[in-house]
Order: sequence, then C-alpha cells, then structure tokens
Amino acid sequence: MDKEQTWCPSGDAGAPEAVVLGVRSGENGRLVYLADPVPASAVLDRVPEGVEPGRVMRFASHCVSECKHRRGNDCTLVERISAVPGNPEQERVPRCHLRGRCTWWAQTGAEGCRRCPVISTRNTEDDELAALVADPDVTVEQVERWIENHRR
Ligand code: SF4
Repeated sequence: MDKEQTWCPSGDAGAPEAVVLGVRSGENGRLVYLADPVPASAVLDRVPEGVEPGRVMRFASHCVSECKHRRGNDCTLVERISAVPGNPEQERVPRCHLRGRCTWWAQTGAEGCRRCPVISTRNTEDDELAALVADPDVTVEQVERWIENHRR
C-alpha cells in the first residue's frame, strides 16, 4: 500500500482499493474492527440480496480530493462527528488496522477514534442528528446548535 495515501474510514465499498474496516455486529450496531484488511471485493458478493452492504459492514477507501466532505486537506465529516458529545462509556480507542494511514486519525487523533465505532455509512434519514452530521452542507456550528436545542 502507498504510505503517502490517506484513507477514509467511512469509505466507498465500490472503490477498487476498498477494504473492510469492520463488521457492525457489536452492541447497538457498533463496529467490530477486523484485525487485518480484507478486500471489499472478496465479501460484497456474500452480502444477501436486498441488504445494503453499509448496513452490516464499514469500508475504507482512498481519501480523495473530490469528496463532498473535503475542505482543503481536512475532512469536515469528522469535524461534525467530533462536535457530537461522546459517550463516556465509549472512551476506549479501538484497535484498528487503518490507523497508520487514516485521515480521521491524522486530523483528530484519539477524538475521532473514540467516535469511530458508532459511525454508520448506511442511510441515516431516520436519525435527524446523524443525517445532519453526514450532510456536507451543514456546519459544526449548526450541529452544536441542534444539540443545544435538543438538550433537556
Ligand atoms: S478507529 Fe481511528 S484510526 Fe481506526 S478507522 Fe476509526 S478513526 Fe481511523
């Protein structure tokens, strides 16, 4: 693998270089990380028909300049994710095969890693906050305002 190339931990399963980051089989759909990368192409045809692969797995693929979440070299997605208060029970940084080349790790360090297991690449329309976080047109301030308005 190219050591200079950074990778997105919420990547495109269909990218030629895509690998499985983990399986969403933990408690509450949390990600269980694979010890070693497995090519996405080796598993995609095993996902039952009608099941969106992102519902059961997370994929990593190259971090690309044309990504809708890119601002310069930064990933705005992990900025919005980091704006959501973490759960103290999820403070452990997972063991992960992507760390040495992960964009989120490079940008936010342990902060992004602590949020990483609960991030879903599936459709988030049913979760208003998750949909806001996933929207590249939404700012960190808007995420923080939403949280403030819904805090009771
Ligand atoms: S756990 Fe950290 S290093 Fe691993 S993919 Fe997630 S953000 Fe990147």
